Amino acid sequence: MSTSSREIQLAARPHGEPKPSDFRLVAVELPDPGDGELLVRNTYMSVDPYMRGRMNDVKSYTPPFKLDEVMDGGAVGEVVLSNAEGFAVGDVVLHQLGWREHAVQPAAHVRKVVAGDLPESAFLGVLGMPGLTAYAGLLDVAGMQDGDIVFVSGAAGAVGSLAGQIAKLRGNTVIGSAGSDEKVRHLVDDLGFDEAFNYKAGPVGRQLAAAAPKGIDVYFDNVGGDHLEAAIGVANRNGRFALCGAISGYNHTAPAPGPRNMMQIVGKRLTLRGFIVTDHFGRLADLHAEIGPAVRAGQIAFRETVADGLPNAPQAFVDLLRGANVGKMVVKL
Ligand code: NDP
Repeated sequence: MSTSSREIQLAARPHGEPKPSDFRLVAVELPDPGDGELLVRNTYMSVDPYMRGRMNDVKSYTPPFKLDEVMDGGAVGEVVLSNAEGFAVGDVVLHQLGWREHAVQPAAHVRKVVAGDLPESAFLGVLGMPGLTAYAGLLDVAGMQDGDIVFVSGAAGAVGSLAGQIAKLRGNTVIGSAGSDEKVRHLVDDLGFDEAFNYKAGPVGRQLAAAAPKGIDVYFDNVGGDHLEAAIGVANRNGRFALCGAISGYNHTAPAPGPRNMMQIVGKRLTLRGFIVTDHFGRLADLHAEIGPAVRAGQIAFRETVADGLPNAPQAFVDLLRGANVGKMVVKL
């Protein structure tokens, strides 16, 4: 017996913004799971900004997607056939074979999740990789302390919205930036940010200076570019920056110029530290222990933007890079 499924393959490497012809929807037949393997029917898959880098044929911290092969990424699904001890039909699992409707894989490559009263998609967002990125980035990489003034860019997205809320939960002052007035209202009204601004409404440097009259101590950088320059400009002495991403440049075809005020890093004794979440998986249990109850109690809000069906996954990914999402962008399969 085999299982009919569909998957998204990389048809071409994008130049600039990805377009529909860079992706291909393909029907496939999957073999039955072998010894120690599972057949999983995916219910949600994740689209994430880092996948844009994997579409390029360049050496990076994750290998590039291969042309004419299925793409991959975070997904949750339900076990429909189990040949592995400890896994039963109906178990919900988190794994890395997204961009497809079904997956056959070793049980050793999946993790069981008990969603309880949360949607299982939360394990692709607030309680998954993006959540851990926010948690470890803020606490371990930036070393946020009580009393810090924290600036978060990309603040209405999956990582940024949690970073800002963790800082608020710890009683700190939080400033956020996002790309629309509606997102700015969401940050202040729903997520409790102290200040927020729309970076498209005027120069970032001027808007950040107005929002942070006492400067900033921590910058959680999701954006890079002029946001990073602005943050260096308003940073207080001994400020700490967690460099998480630089999405303002992901679709660039040539490198953007760096911050023009690098000498201020010296004078202000700033620490700018890049990090990759996979080095921080040891903190997943702490994320779940500390943030899980706050999420379940409604103290931490998590929004999702949900696209429907595998054929719409490429468009969901393009939309994510354009800022169409509030909170985590996922695809329901
Ligand atoms: P988001 O949910 O934040 O979605 C991406 C957002 O980026 C969009 O909604 C859009 O919001 C914003 N954006 C797009 N273009 C620009 C631009 N030119 N300038 C400013 N903002 C822009 O994604 P994630 O939360 O998943 O990821 C956020 C960042 O964290 C990314 O840089 C990502 O690469 C990084 N990351 C890093 C990890 C690590 O291990 N270091 C792990 C996970 C994520 P808007 O409307 O506000 O423009």
